[in-house]
Amino acid sequence: MSKKHLLSKSTYIRSLQCQKSLYLHVKRPFLRDKLPPEQIAKFRRGTNIGVIARDLFPGGVNMSPRSPSQYQKMREETAKLIENQQDNIVYEAIFQHNDVLIMLDILVKNDDGWHAFEVKSSLSISETYLQDAALQYYVITGSGLPLQSFTLIYVNEEYVLEGELDIHRLFTMKDVSNEVDAMLSITKKQIEEAKATLRLQSSPPIPIGTHCYHPYPCDFIGHCWKHVTDDSVLHLQSLTLETRFNLYYKGIERVSQINDLDDLETETQLEIQSFVQERIVSDEQKRFKLIDEMQEKLSKPVYFKLLTKEAALPVIPFTRPYSFPPVALSYGDNRHSVLLLFEETEQDIHRFFNIVSKLIDEFSLLITDDLTDLYKLLNGFPKAEFTDQFIAQKFIGIRQFIEETSMFHPQLTQDADISIIAGILGVKSRKLTHPLYILKDIENDISSQGQAKVSSKMEAYLYHIQAAFDLLVRQPTLFG
Ligand code: SF4
Repeated sequence: MSKKHLLSKSTYIRSLQCQKSLYLHVKRPFLRDKLPPEQIAKFRRGTNIGVIARDLFPGGVNMSPRSPSQYQKMREETAKLIENQQDNIVYEAIFQHNDVLIMLDILVKNDDGWHAFEVKSSLSISETYLQDAALQYYVITGSGLPLQSFTLIYVNEEYVLEGELDIHRLFTMKDVSNEVDAMLSITKKQIEEAKATLRLQSSPPIPIGTHCYHPYPCDFIGHCWKHVTDDSVLHLQSLTLETRFNLYYKGIERVSQINDLDDLETETQLEIQSFVQERIVSDEQKRFKLIDEMQEKLSKPVYFKLLTKEAALPVIPFTRPYSFPPVALSYGDNRHSVLLLFEETEQDIHRFFNIVSKLIDEFSLLITDDLTDLYKLLNGFPKAEFTDQFIAQKFIGIRQFIEETSMFHPQLTQDADISIIAGILGVKSRKLTHPLYILKDIENDISSQGQAKVSSKMEAYLYHIQAAFDLLVRQPTLFG
C-alpha cells in the first residue's frame, strides 16, 4: 500500500490562495472560523450535481470511499480496474502522484483511450477550476495513465425545464486539454511550494491582504485579522479592497488618519464622516429626492418579507438551474399580517405570482428589507411577468434605499440584516432581541410547533421592516 498523501485537490487550491491558509488548515484547524449555514449548504450542493452528471455516462463503477481511511484502498481498486480493462466508465476514480491524491468525477474509456471529466456545480468556469483541472491532469498522467482529453462539465445557465429534466441540455462541456497541458510545469512547482509549507515548524509570516478574500473569503480571517481595529480603513466599503490595502500598507490604518478628504469621492467622504462621528450619515439631497419621489406611493403601503431557497436543479416547469423558488411570504403591518407557505410545485409558484399581483393592485407601495431575493426569484422564472423595471417602480427595499442615498454607519456592513439595520436606525423594541429567521429553521418549526411559530417569527421581520422604513422616510431630520 502506498504512503498517505500530503495534499488533496482542496488543500492544493487553498495553497494557491495563501500558503498560510494551507498551513493553518492542516496544522491548526481549531483556529478556523465557523462557517455560516448558507456556506455549508453551498458546499453540499456540489455533490448532488456531480452525482446527477454521472447519468451523462451511465453504468459506471463507483470508487467513492466510504471514509477517508479508505482512500488508499480505493486508489488501488481504481488502478486494478484500469489495468484489467474490465470497465469503461469509472466514477470517483482515485489517483495519487507526488504525494497528491485526487478523485476524478468521471473517467471514460473510448476506442482511442481514456478521457477525464470533472463536474462543477457552477454556471461558468473560473480560473480556480482550471487550476483544479490542471492538478488532476498532472496527478492522473503522472500516476501512469495517459489521458486523451480533459473536459470540464458545468451547469448551463440558459437551460429552462420543459417536460422531463434533460441532463444533456442541463450540462455544458468544455474540453480544457490544451489549457491543463500547458499548466503542467507550473502545477508541479506549486505542489512543491505547498509541500514545503507543510514541512515548516510554524505558520509562514504572510500578512493579510486582498488574497484574504480572493478567490474565496478565507476561513481564518477571524484569526489573522484580529488586530484590525473597528475603525480600520479596511472596513471602508465605498473603497475597493485594493484601495483599502494600499492605504493600510502606507501606514494609514485608522479612518481618522486619512487626510486630503477633498480628493476622495463624495461617498467615501460620507463614510469616513460616519466612522469619525460614529453615527449614521447619508447624502441628504439624494435622500430627500427619493422621499419626494415616493410621496404619492406612501398613501397605502404594505410591508412584506419573502424567504426563498436556492434550487440547483430546476424542478418546477419553465424554471432555470439555480432558481430561487418562494418558501414563505408574510405581508401586512404592525397590527395584522398574513403568512403563506409554498411548496416547490408549479401550482404553488402560480399561487405566489397571483398573490403578488393582488398585492400590487391593492397597495400603493410594497416595502421589504432587501429586494435582492425577489430579483433572484424572478431571474429563475423567465416566464414571470414582472420586469426588474416594474419592481423598481412598485417596490422598495430598505437595503436599496440605503444604497441609493449613500447611507453609511460603521456597523452597516453589506451583510447586515434588517435587525442590525433597524438597531442602527434606533428602532427600540423587545423584538429586536429576537434572532431573525433563517430558512433552515422553518421546516424544524413547522414540524415541531406548527405554522404559528413561523408566523410569529415572520412578524418579527415585518416589525423591523416597518419600523426601520418609518425612521428612514418619515423622520427626515433624523440623520443631519
Ligand atoms: S486570513 Fe488571509 S493571511 Fe490569513 S490565512 Fe487566510 S488568506 Fe492567509
